[in-house]
Amino acid sequence: AKAEGRNGIAFFEAGMQAEVEQRLNMERELAAAIENSQLALYAQQQVDCDGRPVGAELLMRWQRADGSWVPPSLFIPLAEGTGQILQLGAWALRQACLYAVELANAGHTLPLSVNVSPSQFRHADFVEQVQAVLQETGAPASQLIFEVTEGLLVEKWEETVERMNVLAALGIRFSIDDFGTGYSSLAYLKRMPLYELKIDRSFIMDTPADASGKAIVQTILAMAHHLGLRVVAEGVETVAQASFLIDSNCHCMQGYLYSRPAPFAQLLAALSPQATA
Ligand code: C2E
Ligand code: CA
Ligand code: CA
Ligand code: CA
Repeated sequence: AKAEGRNGIAFFEAGMQAEVEQRLNMERELAAAIENSQLALYAQQQVDCDGRPVGAELLMRWQRADGSWVPPSLFIPLAEGTGQILQLGAWALRQACLYAVELANAGHTLPLSVNVSPSQFRHADFVEQVQAVLQETGAPASQLIFEVTEGLLVEKWEETVERMNVLAALGIRFSIDDFGTGYSSLAYLKRMPLYELKIDRSFIMDTPADASGKAIVQTILAMAHHLGLRVVAEGVETVAQASFLIDSNCHCMQGYLYSRPAPFAQLLAALSPQATA
């Protein structure tokens, strides 16, 4: 029994070691990915009730040298753990600004939404970074929306709102991502410079079949409209979901039903069909 126990422990340790090694490998690979431009920022359209594009969310993609893709659900949390998210986030923000300039040059005013992780937002230099990259690229701040999660609002409330106000004064708009999945109180919503709420996909998934799912979505919509906020429904996959949302006065949809995340050039081409015809 004793020998078995030892074996058990040895096995467990070997497993842990493999996991640690895997993490370290990926951390090194990610550092190289930034250097070797294996990262891309894809765009997914957001559309109005008539299917017309009204914005796009920028989503990071990592394709390894061997052609395999690493999903963001894997490397974003890893990068948050190692601190590499600061580098990734800065890269994404600069790329977003370059895209905003491209859009503006092509005569399009639709905004681009950038995911900003809490540690990136809280970094001491974040405001200066944003100002510097806007200046360097000449991107119009009015064309950028920062998506932040409710988690950002749980801690250091005063500082967070103050920083949001500074960025909002520059012309940046704010969106609460995955709305409804965190523990935010509704009271905070009206005390910060918000433009938009994004209803999390988990709620949209339940519609229109589930009555309480529908009630949750309609409640969020009513509240948001009352506060004058734009609402984006995330993860719209079916016509039934879209009809329910349109009937419920949701004016903005994002999901596979309309378009998948794709290289930015595709968004530009979709917006300017005459240029590619
Ligand atoms: P998110 O911000 O909630 O992004 C929406 C996710 O839903 C994206 O996954 C998108 O591809 C996916 N999606 C869109 N429409 C549908 C649909 O109809 N059905 C389904 N099943 N999924 C849909 P993705 O691109 O894998 O990104 C996952 C998460 O990684 C994002 O969730 C975000 O939290 C994070 N992420 C991605 N890019 C960035 C980035 O540049 N910076 C930061 N900080 N996080 C990022
Ligand atoms: Ca997002
Ligand atoms: Ca989301
Ligand atoms: Ca999400």
